[in-house]
Formats: sequence, structure tokens, C-alpha cells
Amino acid sequence: MKCALVTGGSRGIGRAICIRLANEGYYVLINYKSNQTAAENTLELINYNGELLQFDVADKEQIKSVLDNWISINPDKYIEVLVNNAGIREDALMSWMNDEQWDNIIKTNLDSFFYVTRIVLKQMLVRKYGRIVNVVSLSGLKGLAGQTNYAAAKAGVIGATKSLAQEVARFGITVNAVAPGFIKTDMVEGLDEKEMSKLIPAKRFGLPEEVAHAVSFFAAKEASYVTAQVLSINGGLYS
Ligand code: NAP
Repeated sequence: MKCALVTGGSRGIGRAICIRLANEGYYVLINYKSNQTAAENTLELINYNGELLQFDVADKEQIKSVLDNWISINPDKYIEVLVNNAGIREDALMSWMNDEQWDNIIKTNLDSFFYVTRIVLKQMLVRKYGRIVNVVSLSGLKGLAGQTNYAAAKAGVIGATKSLAQEVARFGITVNAVAPGFIKTDMVEGLDEKEMSKLIPAKRFGLPEEVAHAVSFFAAKEASYVTAQVLSINGGLYS
């Protein structure tokens, strides 16, 4: 059975990715941290062609116990598509940023890539096939005042994407990233959309489905010669 794991699949961009991959025939493992109701809504939206997998991507012990357990009780399935999407931001100017704000963001947005991917990669290597797509950010390419923590984490994932892609290309595994600009989700709540849209050539924020479309391109079997790439989805804001 074709299986895809989407971290942070309960809401926003992750939910749109779950729906897109389910429509493409994947059995989707919907990871989330705490919002059970939202995760159940995503499961309903994909007609129950998947299951919920709760773990905190910032907690390496939890990742290991939940994923190892799922793999051991599902010998007939394997995760051939991994989307590392879960992420948070906690903005502060660096001189005011506390240890917790730095550590939380690095753990959730960067360490999670390592601890989740290392486990899923093993089966991909055995099967000699896999698609890994990391959701990074415009901030990791361009930087943004108030986001030294978030930009460092996302830039870290970009470097890891390019390095891992070179390690595993000969095993039929591709590793790519999508870098959204401003996308309408809970994460951008509180931003002045009208004012900020003036700076975007497309004159609007993007939609989660527009990011999901790019993820689905990288996840496709046919995208077999596309690896180590970062695709911006930002309405022309930065290139
Ligand atoms: P969102 O609407 O706030 O949703 C975040 C998702 O991540 C939720 O499903 C949440 O689960 C999950 N999550 C958060 N922390 C987690 C943890 N520790 N363990 C497991 N799951 C966790 O965010 P979004 O806008 O869709 O963002 C998705 C990704 O796109 C992130 O990596 C973000 O950095 C990136 N991005 C977003 C934008 C944007 O403008 N929206 C721009 C650039 C990049 P719960 O529901 O359980 O909380």
C-alpha cells in the first residue's frame, strides 16, 4: 500500500497536503501535536483513507517510540512519501529573544527533520524508493527581522535537504523542499494581510492548496530526476 506521512497534517498547509496526497491514492498518516479535533477533521476530509499518528516532532523519544511501533505493527505498509511540514514560529528581535524561544523553534523546525527522517529513511533505503519533501520558508532563504530563530531553523533544513539528496540519490530517493512565502493559515493570523499584500507581486497571500500542489509534484514517481531543489511559492515576492 502506498503510504505518506505528513507531519503537522491537522491544519493549514499540512491538511491541504494530506488531502492532495489522499486524492492521489496515498494512505495518509496524519501527524499532529495536540489539536485532535482538527486532525480528525483532516481524516474525515480524506474519507478515512489514512490514520492519525500523534507525536510531538520536537520530542525525539516520542518520535522514535510512535514511528518504530507503527512500522513494527504494519509490515505490509511502508512510508514512501515523507512530508516534513510541522512547524511553528515565535518571533522576537534577537536582543529580546530568550533561550526558550530559540530552543523551541530549533527543536520543532530543524531537529524534527533529523529525528523523523532518519527513521523513515531506513525503509526507503531497503526498498530503493522514496520521496522526502521538506516545508521550509522564504525566511530561510532571505532572512527576516524578528525571525533569527525561525530563519536559522529553516535555512538549516535547506542545507540538510541538499546534503541528504546527494547521499541518497543513487537509491532512488529524492529530497526536495518547498519554500512558501505568506500563506493563509493560522500561522499568519494577526498579520496585516491587506497592507502586506501590496508588497507581493501577486497582490495576495497564497493558499495552502497552492503549496500542496508543489509538494505533490516533488512526491510524484515521475519527478525521479528532480532532487536537492528548493521551490519558492511566494507570488513573486523573492527569487
Ligand atoms: P499552522 O496552520 O499553524 O499548522 C501547524 C501544524 O503543525 C499543525 O498541524 C500543528 O499541529 C503542527 N505542529 C506544530 N508543532 C508541532 C509539533 N511540535 N509536533 C507535531 N506537530 C506540530 O501552520 P502552517 O502555516 O500550515 O505551516 C506549515 C509549515 O509551513 C510550517 O513548517 C511553517 O513553518 C511553514 N510555512 C508557513 C508559512 C505561512 O505563511 N503559513 C510560510 C512559510 C512556511 P496541531 O494542530 O496539533 O497544533
